[in-house]
Amino acid sequence: MGAVKPIISFRNITKRWGSTVAVDNVSLDIVPGEFFALLGPSGCGKTTLLRMLAGLEIPTEGQILIDGQDMADIPPNKRAVNMVFQSYAVFPHMTVADNVAYGLKIDGVPKPERDRRVQEALDLVQLGHLGERMPDQLSGGQRQRVALARALVKKPKVLLLDEPLSALDAKLREAMRFELSQLQQKVGITFIMVTHDQDEALAIACRIAVMNKGSIAQLGTPSDLYEFPSSRFVADFLGSVNMFEGKIVSDKPDEAVVTCPELDPYPVHVPHSVPGQENSAVWVAIRPEKMNLNKDAPRAPSVPECPDAHNVAKGQIKDISYLGDISIYHVQLASGRLIRVSRPNRSRFDQDHFSAGETVWISWVGSSPVVLQS
Ligand code: ATP
Repeated sequence: MGAVKPIISFRNITKRWGSTVAVDNVSLDIVPGEFFALLGPSGCGKTTLLRMLAGLEIPTEGQILIDGQDMADIPPNKRAVNMVFQSYAVFPHMTVADNVAYGLKIDGVPKPERDRRVQEALDLVQLGHLGERMPDQLSGGQRQRVALARALVKKPKVLLLDEPLSALDAKLREAMRFELSQLQQKVGITFIMVTHDQDEALAIACRIAVMNKGSIAQLGTPSDLYEFPSSRFVADFLGSVNMFEGKIVSDKPDEAVVTCPELDPYPVHVPHSVPGQENSAVWVAIRPEKMNLNKDAPRAPSVPECPDAHNVAKGQIKDISYLGDISIYHVQLASGRLIRVSRPNRSRFDQDHFSAGETVWISWVGSSPVVLQS
């Protein structure tokens, strides 16, 4: 991240409970103004990492710095971070404005300043006109914004969000993703979000740490992680992927060839060198949207007679899921293996182009597969 001084540094952080290693030697820097996401399956340690940052859990080993200061002896209320919890609990017996003012009141902030800051925070989350409402007169999305205003009013350097949108329905979740990212850009402070929802992390975050079993599996921008996963775990966790076991048959700087039993007799050609030596076992990962469906064999007169055919597979459509914007085709290869191909429905009649039971050819360009070490 160049010379920018991190606002948060985790240095060799480990957290154990008895024999459970929740977080395993994590080192990570987060720079000011980032929208950072900790993403991973249930139990991977992301919440524990966030709670250690907030001071709600104590690391077993390692050091956490906020703005260069060691947090070892700093209690939660003295840290320049504020947390918005999953349940976004608001006090039901207080008005929206009183909910937001609560923390400032505890801190002894005088009333005129308090009123000004509360109004400012409510305006930020577009609730400026609802200060006198009671929480039960609000929608789920509005209650979520009250919780955000309550955290922002204290002007933390870093806002911590634990699954902030998980209690909302699908449509609202999507709208709130956009609002959260707009809000973060407006206030300019660092947001760190914990989520197990890959779409949410991809849509909102500047950078994502994908966690697995207490460690960071890969760190990068959303497109780095999606297009260049470094392991089967990351390729599979982010989005969907067709994975084929294979073997490197030749590896040159400008082209590598991998054979996969399930794609035989056609090899996979990629326009670059791959990780591993000739004969070593690898996995070829291809995303469903990077595969094309064709009614005809890609090379006339027929592929089997075409000795250099590659990056193709023949199969039969077993099932089609029409999702409106795209359709997902489950195609069965000769091996019996079902693979997933997605296709945008660009015209209103696109979904009629293929039907279940039809024999199809799948093809992809050489830059689409990611070759991963097994
Ligand atoms: P989720 O998405 O389900 O919340 P997570 O990735 O946030 O999962 P953590 O809550 O950080 O995971 O938990 C990591 C591991 O630590 C899990 O195995 C969990 O059971 C364990 N763990 C968490 N809190 C405690 C605790 N207080 N005592 C003992 N074990 C705990």
